[in-house]
Amino acid sequence: MWHHFFYTSWGIGQCFGYSSLHLDRGFWYYVNISYTILCLITTIVIYIIGFLRNKVGSTRAHFMVFLIASFLPLLGIAMLLFSYERMCIDYVAILMPITLLIISYGILKFDFLEIRTLARETIFENNLAGMVVLGPGKIIVDYNKAAEKFFENINITLNNYPIDRILKNEPKLLEIFGSEENQDYSLVIDGEERFFEIDTVPIGNLQDVNMRMLKSIRDVTEERKIQRKLKFLATTDSLSGLYNRAEFMDLAQMEFALAKMNNEELSLLMIDIDKFKNINDSFGHSAGDEVIREIGRMTKNNFRKTDIAGRIGGEEFAVILKNATLSEAEKVAEMFREAVSKREVIYGEDEISFTVSIGVASIHGDNDIIYNIEDTLKMADDALYKAKAKGRNCVVTYVDR
Ligand code: GH3
Ligand code: MG
Ligand code: MG
Repeated sequence: MWHHFFYTSWGIGQCFGYSSLHLDRGFWYYVNISYTILCLITTIVIYIIGFLRNKVGSTRAHFMVFLIASFLPLLGIAMLLFSYERMCIDYVAILMPITLLIISYGILKFDFLEIRTLARETIFENNLAGMVVLGPGKIIVDYNKAAEKFFENINITLNNYPIDRILKNEPKLLEIFGSEENQDYSLVIDGEERFFEIDTVPIGNLQDVNMRMLKSIRDVTEERKIQRKLKFLATTDSLSGLYNRAEFMDLAQMEFALAKMNNEELSLLMIDIDKFKNINDSFGHSAGDEVIREIGRMTKNNFRKTDIAGRIGGEEFAVILKNATLSEAEKVAEMFREAVSKREVIYGEDEISFTVSIGVASIHGDNDIIYNIEDTLKMADDALYKAKAKGRNCVVTYVDR
């Protein structure tokens, strides 16, 4: 009785000289077929949308294969509905194996959509870089384990709220997460300063970067430490601990440009150890090195943090004094000369005394201003030459312009 809902009657008939099964469809048959058609149409629409939205060739081809595979059963059903009476052939049964072959081809050729999605999800979830996906209104749409861990350090629990709300007590981070720029952020974790590079990757339309973006948080502490170390090695003189000549000249150029821009004073000291050759000859080269180290230490301790000091030759040092007139620089130089003359370096059994001669120059002359490091160095060098000629262990300023 129940079967009659599906087929009202059946019997054997003749079709092209062969015996064939005749079925008369009942109400439930149409319910069933309508549901199947609906499912197939929905699938086709989804694949069409996927096809149109995707710009990548291989992904489009992927959607096209599955689109054809879903269209064939629909075609079979249509033919079954409209010509079964005449031809007595179940077209769906013929087309289904073809559909399966096309689907198999799609899976083998383009990799199974599921596996790709799963692989992508696994990469996202387990990436060493923290990742936070922001949707419209800067709402956190998704985040991975590393991102959770990063925010744990500042006692923030991630969830699907707008970042303004989540980072309301962290203005610097909020600013970084709200902007489209790549920026650095540092954090003290277990007493150690760690550096993070926070990058922005637009998702989808580039014009839409405000709408959707991925923020990646990468721990770059080791990189930054190596960079700092390399920078230190490239710019610092290993013996004195002061800037090396190249770095001193670079920084000096900048200081001169700044002084010019702000119409400020700038003075330069040129310091040379007296009769240093004698120290080497009497106590050995290593003892001489120790004297250079001591001058380096004294330079660091006796000048202001803002002054720029470098070892610009074997036993020659230069210091730029910011905002210092010639007479102020002369006083500072005199104090340094005196401090050096009172200092001794203990080397083994030896107590080594040493002195320095200092030439001082300033960018402000009587009539004109010289905003040029090379010329100022030359003037300080001239003054130094005079100091040596005067008998050493003294300070001479360059005045004759
Ligand atoms: P003056 O008072 O005229 O400056 O005499 P001086 O002996 O200091 O000058 P001179 O230029 O004749 O000699 C400088 C010496 O400094 C020569 C060189 O061997 C020595 N020197 C240069 N660089 C270093 C270094 O890195 N370590 C040591 N120990 N000596 C150095
Ligand atoms: Mg010397
Ligand atoms: Mg010299």
